[in-house]
Amino acid sequence: MARFTTALLVASATQVLSLCSHNTFLHPRAENGTVEVKNFGYRGNIGPLFWATLDAGRVNERCASGSKQSPIDMVPEVFTLRPASDLEIVVPDFPEGTEFENLGTTIEVIARPGGTLKVDGKTFELQQAHFHLPSEHLDAGTSRAMEMHAVWQSAEQEIAVIGTYIDVVVDGAAPPATTAPAAARFRRRQAAAPAAAGASTFLETVLSKADAIATPGSVTQTPPLVLSEIVNLWKAGSFQAYSGSLTTPPCSEGVNWFVSTQTLRISAATFEKARSVIGFNSRLTQNAPGQLNVQMAALATIMSDLSQAAVAAPPVAAAPAAE
Ligand SMILES: [Zn+2]
Repeated sequence: MARFTTALLVASATQVLSLCSHNTFLHPRAENGTVEVKNFGYRGNIGPLFWATLDAGRVNERCASGSKQSPIDMVPEVFTLRPASDLEIVVPDFPEGTEFENLGTTIEVIARPGGTLKVDGKTFELQQAHFHLPSEHLDAGTSRAMEMHAVWQSAEQEIAVIGTYIDVVVDGAAPPATTAPAAARFRRRQAAAPAAAGASTFLETVLSKADAIATPGSVTQTPPLVLSEIVNLWKAGSFQAYSGSLTTPPCSEGVNWFVSTQTLRISAATFEKARSVIGFNSRLTQNAPGQLNVQMAALATIMSDLSQAAVAAPPVAAAPAAE
């Protein structure tokens, strides 16, 4: 019996919340530090195709019916390319480190106060950053190793997300162009040095701690973090902007997406460490904004084909007798 109870607890823990919206008004962080358990996942009958049916209150309905869902294939027809100067981003470094949590189906860095994003006359505050593996957005049809989502919320409870692709460093790759002199002071204090040329110090520092939060619901403290490395990387590129949704239930729309044209890199060893904890947490690619929801489109096509087949097909022949 004890073994059965333990198995149930483990099963519940693996279905823990993994949200683009975690630590926002949609899913505020628990005051007591516990992790909220949700009933969705990425496989089988709790996977993305079933998200709309998992909540009796039809809270997740947009997952199957929304016409501006995320993630999508980032081809030029679906986004507006915006210069980095359109976004005013300020994120202080975290010299004391911060909390790094395992929410069951993602791992998440909790933001210290003070990070702001100003765009189109609105001001958003940085809430958290979490990781998807493999990338949720496709880079013109191509999946990338991982994707980081930095989640921001305005006082009017609007949400903005900056998505950044993460690639694994290939031996002999050129070193990154993002070396912030102002970051050197903190960088010297960071516990984890980049394990490979070209690897992001921020990512190496954070994700190398993934094994400390291998269990869903667990929390650890990061070493000091230099956020200016990430901000400077964003500012060196531009953003592919579109209006989409949360990529997790309740799949709310009206999310301001900004996918960076810049790429972060991590060492192979750190990638494997992150992968061993995250596993797989990427929603299937949605149709372009404005098109019929991909699940509705699939269902309509399947039902149509089945009904035509039923009309056209001759009566099913009896199974041949065994010889
Ligand atoms: Zn996300």
